[in-house]
Amino acid sequence: MQPSPLRIVIVGGGSAGWMCAAACAQVLHPQRYSITLIESEEIGIVGVGEATLPALRDFNDMLGLDEAQFMRETQGTFKLGIEFRDWDRPGEHYVHPFGAFGELWGGVEFQHFWWRARQQGLNPPPLEEFSVAVRACRRNAFDFPSASTVLSTFYGYAYHFDAGLYSDFLRRWATARGVTRIEGRVVDVALESSRGHIESLTLKSGQRIAGDFFVDCSGFRSLLLGDRLQVPWEDWGSWLPCDRAWAVPCERSEDFTPYTRSTARKGGWIWRIPLQHRTGNGHVFSTKYVSEDEACAALLGQLDGRALGEPRLLRFRAGRRAQAWKGNCVGIGLASGFLEPLESTSLFLVQKAIQDMLRLLPAPEARVADERLVREFNRLSDALYERIRAFLILHYTANRRIGEPLWDHVRDYELPESLRHKLRLFDSRGHVPYFKDGFFSRDSWLAVLFGQGLVPRAHDRMAEGMPLGLLDARLRELHSRVAAHAISMPSHAEAIARYCEPPRAKQAASS
Ligand SMILES: Cc1cc2nc3c(=O)[nH]c(=O)nc-3n(C[C@H](O)[C@H](O)[C@H](O)COP(=O)(O)OP(=O)(O)OC[C@H]3O[C@@H](n4cnc5c(N)ncnc54)[C@H](O)[C@@H]3O)c2cc1C
Repeated sequence: MQPSPLRIVIVGGGSAGWMCAAACAQVLHPQRYSITLIESEEIGIVGVGEATLPALRDFNDMLGLDEAQFMRETQGTFKLGIEFRDWDRPGEHYVHPFGAFGELWGGVEFQHFWWRARQQGLNPPPLEEFSVAVRACRRNAFDFPSASTVLSTFYGYAYHFDAGLYSDFLRRWATARGVTRIEGRVVDVALESSRGHIESLTLKSGQRIAGDFFVDCSGFRSLLLGDRLQVPWEDWGSWLPCDRAWAVPCERSEDFTPYTRSTARKGGWIWRIPLQHRTGNGHVFSTKYVSEDEACAALLGQLDGRALGEPRLLRFRAGRRAQAWKGNCVGIGLASGFLEPLESTSLFLVQKAIQDMLRLLPAPEARVADERLVREFNRLSDALYERIRAFLILHYTANRRIGEPLWDHVRDYELPESLRHKLRLFDSRGHVPYFKDGFFSRDSWLAVLFGQGLVPRAHDRMAEGMPLGLLDARLRELHSRVAAHAISMPSHAEAIARYCEPPRAKQAASS
């Protein structure tokens, strides 16, 4: 006899909740799993997750979304990386691209050849000029990576989009595929007595919703995992001191960049994200170093278009829940942790948690999760959070903004051991340890390390094998190949207009 479907109940209809509901609807058999999502319009969503990582394309592929439609409906734009301004010190800037610097030569990483050429006085162009993505960013250009060129593997891309429209889009998508949506505010969470698992939720209306498996996507409130199951919070504020953000959209400007911009400021940093219909802006800051009013004024002073509405203040803490999965409840999104949006990692963490959850979810026959699988989920989640944390800390600690209290503090604080190890390796030979799982890639680390003025003392000995004359010639050839590729790209504005125009307009134009 078929077991009754496993009842999955998701609390929260922000990006995390609807991404989870959509993925469950796509992957899980409707006769074996039922999916219900509860959200409260009265409470609303955070709605500021506007920048993403290339991995989101895999998520969209998994759902089978049409990319152009997705971008039209979310007012999306393309993102080739992040430009960091003034992070090393005022006046300096660099791009962290989604893609490689150079190419492997004889299996040896490019940065070693480039650094050797520098040390030997060959005077090669800056490292960033060997990245197609950075060169495209510098020209405000975009094109899809194409399999037809030798440089196809050199870069990837992600999206900027309107986070509110994204949740709406996924809501329509998921409810059309069998997800039951319930509007209401959860006011009580009942536990069963034997194992302390969640049994049911009660809404303000009095309605009771029973389930077998619960996903806490209730945002910073962490209604199930934090409040009810009392999973402790690990605070990472000593490494990532920002605790507030002002967010405000403004009119779209001429500067239609295919990248996010992050500008360091006295008490934090300001983001700028171009969308089709407007530009998103925000100031992430630490109240220890700048007042709310001062931070708001700094943000408004940096807008490159008329503000569309009043700035909105968001409060947060850096850290995570000690366990992301406990008993029959998984926390996903802000309910399980938060790392500031410096590298646009939150939706990636959501995506990764959903994928791992789907892999490890109990079958209807078992109904209860195997504790070994729960531990595996938590191990993966911990590793990912910690690797991202190390990468974010690097941006802060590698600065030369002397005499500014926030920046003096983060330059000198005690680093986690894993980061110290990475910095030592880089310092001695330009190496960055590589992990199969998790983020960020070697080239991402190199972008920030070199971008913020850190340089190794030596290069990998394996790069010694190439005679200097040949090295010089190969660097020149690669440099012009990368430049030619970037020059052939249309502007980002043209690429968006062409790709995202409504299908009917396209047909009319071609007939
Ligand atoms: C300043 C800032 C900037 C950010 N920028 C980025 C970015 O650029 N890129 C990125 O990837 N991420 C970013 N993020 C993170 C991103 O916004 C979130 O990770 C993402 O939106 C997921 O949020 P969520 O769904 O977990 O929570 P929320 O959006 O807060 O949703 C919570 C849901 O739970 C519901 N809820 C809560 N309590 C109850 C209750 N009692 N009963 C019923 N429903 C309830 C709410 O109504 C809502 O539907 C940013 C975050 C902040 C704070």
